[in-house]
Amino acid sequence: MQAYWLKNVRLEKGHKKNEGAVKTETEITNIKIVGDKFSEISASDPGEGIDCKGQLLLPSLRESHIHIDKTYFGGPWMSCAKGKDLFGRLEEEKTLLPELLPAMPERTRKIIELLIGKGHTHIQAQCNVDPIIGTQNYRCAKEILETYTDKLTYQLVAFPQHGLLRSNSLPYMRQAMEEGADVVGGVDPGLLDKDVKNSLRATFQLAAEYDRPVDIHLHEQNSLGLYSMNRICDMTEEYGWQGRVTIGSAVALSGIDPGSLQAISRRLSQLDITISSSVALESPIPIPYLDQAGVRVALGHDSLIDHFSCFGTGDTIEKLCNVASCFKMTDEVSLGQVMKYATGGITPLDADGNRRWPTSDDTASFMLVDASSSAELIARRKPITALYFKGRCVFHA
Ligand SMILES: [Zn+2]
Repeated sequence: MQAYWLKNVRLEKGHKKNEGAVKTETEITNIKIVGDKFSEISASDPGEGIDCKGQLLLPSLRESHIHIDKTYFGGPWMSCAKGKDLFGRLEEEKTLLPELLPAMPERTRKIIELLIGKGHTHIQAQCNVDPIIGTQNYRCAKEILETYTDKLTYQLVAFPQHGLLRSNSLPYMRQAMEEGADVVGGVDPGLLDKDVKNSLRATFQLAAEYDRPVDIHLHEQNSLGLYSMNRICDMTEEYGWQGRVTIGSAVALSGIDPGSLQAISRRLSQLDITISSSVALESPIPIPYLDQAGVRVALGHDSLIDHFSCFGTGDTIEKLCNVASCFKMTDEVSLGQVMKYATGGITPLDADGNRRWPTSDDTASFMLVDASSSAELIARRKPITALYFKGRCVFHA
């Protein structure tokens, strides 16, 4: 079992209050890694070790929603065709998916490499499963992700992009489950399938049959989106799927009246449903409100560049900065706490300034950054200099 010291590493230690303003206090110390875990923090010189030169140690990141199959990333520049709605985009996929398949292995690899270089050690990845491409994208994605299991963990979502019922994708989804897909995906049961209850019923039945979590993307707006969200809550309750359901995008949460927001937040929290957001700058969903209401929030890019959008960066630090900026979280504590949306809830300090991470029970998946605090990292969008996965260095700038 490997055992070594990281020397001269900066750890957040607490909050120092000065006339109303809070500063993050840090210490330069040494931390021992044994196997895949942190084992010991010691101020005395341990002798041999890796010199971290005062860099800040922070938890590694999680990407919660990324389409790794039908991407232009890593290929020649392509912008999106103008003026197409969702149905227009789906029409494009009839020729696009088979065209993109030969380039998929290389491009998928490039997305994964980019995400590792940006500090991620977990990816929740989507890939199309439908009558056009069958499970070919799924199989290709799986094969490639499997070659990275020494660098990250992943969950691969079988995603019926063309509508589970609308495109008769159920047999292909079942095939993907037989082939080992980790998560049952779903999308817009009202907008695409035009039958919220039966679409969700089929999704949850499949999930129950194969004992898999569910990840449904809702681009439905206003009352339709809210209706679908409530029906997802109903099914989560009925199937006992608490803690195993994610709703992606959830755009209907943006701009709804305070009473409805309070009611749906309470349900999402009680049922432990995660909301995954790409932080749409033009109309972000109320992430801090959801968090305070006890709803789990995760962040994802959705796409880097594909026929839907061309603006993704793979930089989750930037996304955290966008959250802070959209919701005017400019003080040290709020900025530092934003980190949890990208780490599965982990922050080095809690809101009261008590150290929560790292402890000797924690898996040693972390990044080193050239910053004086989490707050500075997020506000200044600093790059990461190294990434460790289960105690092993997997990226160095
Ligand atoms: Zn998506």
